[in-house]
Amino acid sequence: MVAGINLMQETKSIRDVEIEGKRVLIRVDFNVPMDSDFNISDDTRIREAIPTINHCIDNGAKSIVLVSHLGRPRGKSSEFSLKHILKRLERLLNRSVIFVESLEGVSSVMATLPQKSVILLENIRFLEGEEKNDEKLSKNLASLCDIYINDAFGASHRKHASTYGVAKFAPVKVAGLLLKKEIDSFAKALASPLKPVLLIVGGSKVSSKITLLSNILDVVDKIVIGGAMSNTFLKSLGYDMQRSLVEDPLVPEAAKILGLAKQKGVKIYLPVDVVCTDDIKNPKEIKITPAQDVPENFLAADIGPASVKLFSEVIRDCETIIWNGPMGVYEVQNFSRGTFQLAHVVADTYAYSVIGGGDTADAIDRAGEKDNMSFTSTGGGASLELLEGKILPAFEVLERK
Ligand code: ADP
Ligand code: MG
Repeated sequence: MVAGINLMQETKSIRDVEIEGKRVLIRVDFNVPMDSDFNISDDTRIREAIPTINHCIDNGAKSIVLVSHLGRPRGKSSEFSLKHILKRLERLLNRSVIFVESLEGVSSVMATLPQKSVILLENIRFLEGEEKNDEKLSKNLASLCDIYINDAFGASHRKHASTYGVAKFAPVKVAGLLLKKEIDSFAKALASPLKPVLLIVGGSKVSSKITLLSNILDVVDKIVIGGAMSNTFLKSLGYDMQRSLVEDPLVPEAAKILGLAKQKGVKIYLPVDVVCTDDIKNPKEIKITPAQDVPENFLAADIGPASVKLFSEVIRDCETIIWNGPMGVYEVQNFSRGTFQLAHVVADTYAYSVIGGGDTADAIDRAGEKDNMSFTSTGGGASLELLEGKILPAFEVLERK
C-alpha cells in the first residue's frame, strides 16, 4: 500500500509545467448534491477546484476548458445539466464562464474568445463514449488542449474518457492542486503516519469496505467498527442481530478479519451496546441494549453510550485517525448521537484526522465539526480504493516527476 501511495505522490502537478500561452483542459469534479429545485446543498467540490482554475488564469493560460460529470444520467436530461452549477461557479471564480453544450461548440468558441476565457462543457456523461472510455472521445478531448489537468479526485477511480483515456492523447498531462492535496493528505495518514494509527469504519457499504479492512491491517494499530458494518462482525461472534442490517454472506469474512487482526497485533473494537428500535422511520420503541441482547424484531441503528465511551478512549489514545463510515443512521436524529459524539471527540484531539466517505463528511458537517478535521476528502469511492491499497487509474496515466 505504501509503495502505491508513494508512486502516486510522484505525479507531476501543474506547478511543474509552464502554463503561459497554453490551452488547458481541466477535468474537475462538479458532481455536487442538489435538492429538487436544483439548489446546491454542498458546494465543497466546486470550491476545492477553484485554486487550480485560478492557478491557470494567474499563469497566463490561453484558454481553460472545464469538463465534469454530474450524477448518473442515462443520455441527455436537463435534470443533470451542469447549467445548474454555472452561477455558483461564476460567483466563486469571480468572473464569467461560457457554458457550451457540445465538444464542437468548445472548438468554435475557443477560436473567437479573448485570452484566459473559462469555458464549462455540458455534463460529459451526456456523451455515450465517456463511461466506455471511448478512444474517439478521448482523442477529441485531447485535441482541445496543450495540457490536460486532472483535478477530479472524486472520479479518479474511474477509467472514463475524461479521467483516463484522454491522457493517452494529450501532449502534457498533470495533476491539479486538489488531486495533489488529496494524495498528500492520505499519504500523511497511511505512508508516514504518527503512531498509533486508528481506523474508524462504519456505514452500510459492508461488502465494499470489507476488502479494505484486510488490506489496512498492515498500516493501522487499532480499528473501531460501528454502523451497519459492525452488525456483520457482531453476528460473526455468534450474536443474534435480529432484524439489523447484516450482510450474511460476509459473516465468515468478518470472522476471518478478526482472526487475522489478532495475528497481526491489530486491536479491533466492536460496539458493546447498541441503540435499537422496532422501526427506524416510525419508531414505537427505542432501547439501549448490550450488543448481544438485541430484542426480537428489533434492529440496531446506532452505537450505544457505553460504546461511545469505549471508542472515545481509543480515539484519544491515537495520533492519526482515518474515518470512513458513520456509526449509525445519522440522518435520523434518534440514531445520530453515536456518530456526532465521536465527531466531537475526534475534533477535540490533536491527532491528524482524515475523513473519507460522502456520508461521513456529511455527518461530521451536521455535527458542526467540518472545519475541525485535519482533512476531508472530496471522494468517497476514490478514497475507499486508496485505502484498499489500489493505484487509482487517474494517477496511473499522468506524468511522473
Ligand atoms: P460513506 O458514504 O461515508 O462511505 P456509507 O455509504 O457506507 O458511508 O454508509 C452510510 C449509510 O449507512 C448512512 O445512510 C447510514 O444511515 C447507514 N447506516 C449506518 N449505520 C447503520 C445501521 N446500523 N443500520 C442501517 N444503516 C446504517
Ligand atoms: Mg455513502
